[in-house]
Amino acid sequence: MLLTLYKSALRPIEIKALLKLKIKGSAYSPSKEPLEELALKLNDRDFCYAALGKVSRSFSVVIQQLPPALKDAVCVFYLVLRALDTVEDDMSIPLEQKLPMLVDFYKASNEEGFSLSGIGDHDDYTTLLENYPKVYRMLKTLKPESQDTIIEITRRMGWGMADFAKREVVTIEDFDFYCHYVAGLVGIGLTRLFVAYNPNSIDLENKNGIANSMGLFLQKTNIIRDYHEDLYSDRTFWPKEIWNEHVDALDHLAKAPKDEKSLATLNHMIVDALQHIPDCLQYLSGVRDEKIFRFTAVPQIMAIATLSKLYNNPEVLTGVVKVRKGLAAKLMLYIITMNDVYKYFEKGIRQIEKKNKPGTPYLQETDKILKELKELLRTKSFRSS
Ligand code: MG
Repeated sequence: MLLTLYKSALRPIEIKALLKLKIKGSAYSPSKEPLEELALKLNDRDFCYAALGKVSRSFSVVIQQLPPALKDAVCVFYLVLRALDTVEDDMSIPLEQKLPMLVDFYKASNEEGFSLSGIGDHDDYTTLLENYPKVYRMLKTLKPESQDTIIEITRRMGWGMADFAKREVVTIEDFDFYCHYVAGLVGIGLTRLFVAYNPNSIDLENKNGIANSMGLFLQKTNIIRDYHEDLYSDRTFWPKEIWNEHVDALDHLAKAPKDEKSLATLNHMIVDALQHIPDCLQYLSGVRDEKIFRFTAVPQIMAIATLSKLYNNPEVLTGVVKVRKGLAAKLMLYIITMNDVYKYFEKGIRQIEKKNKPGTPYLQETDKILKELKELLRTKSFRSS
């Protein structure tokens, strides 16, 4: 916490937000006790929120700001998918065993008494799966249409994860499909939960296509940011179709981070992510509920802030580059209107533009998309509804 405050030292509003959020966060999380012990004494609902706080600290705060009737559905949705992801990420499960687990997870997760033990590369994830009956019972308290959405999205995601457990991300099309399965489907599912909560909360045509883009923009940002970590845990999601245009092997980037070709690869990946921005802005401009708006807008703004930091930055290729937590806290508390969203996207685009000096690898392609995005932000022509 101290280091986090220090990083925001010259930004008093971020310090204020950090402290405010810290107070809020501690009010929401019942205890610092291990989840395993909490599982023994908490009721189903309290366990679900405690688990959410453990497996995703920042997300749990944004969820807490949602209206009560919607909050439970989003919390369960997150936990069911986290449980599925725990199976996907556990590299100690042999493939022939893992594939049916992923494909059938949606059925098992909707059965009374289902649980798994000893799965997961993190204690909290393992505890979540061991106590899955609590999540199941919470799921059963939701509206039938919300339950159906959660189970259907889990089915489709499990199928996609199994598909990509067998093959690699090679083409850009593969990359978009993988991101669709693990993140685009979350956007589609959340949108359905919003509509189930209030049919007037989102005013958009072709909701699925642009909800998918919302997920893709976030997922691609994470995949770019996590290059180094993923490289050394032996799984990479950067499509060969992109990196092979610049380098012969993906680990060249880590070995020669300042090399022009390495930075061209990184910048190419960022340009690929930026193309989802028009859909994201269109989605956000169609959200009619203030709380849902904040819930959906904050991660998008974090993503553009992150991308602007990652652009042409060799540090991404050798370690972890993150956006200040203070900024995240500020956004979570103070983002209210679409104008705030425009402001942060304009800022992110300006920052990338500033870095795009003559001689920057992949300069022209970046320039082209920045021009398009600036024009879009000027005309706001995505406002179809
Ligand atoms: Mg995963």
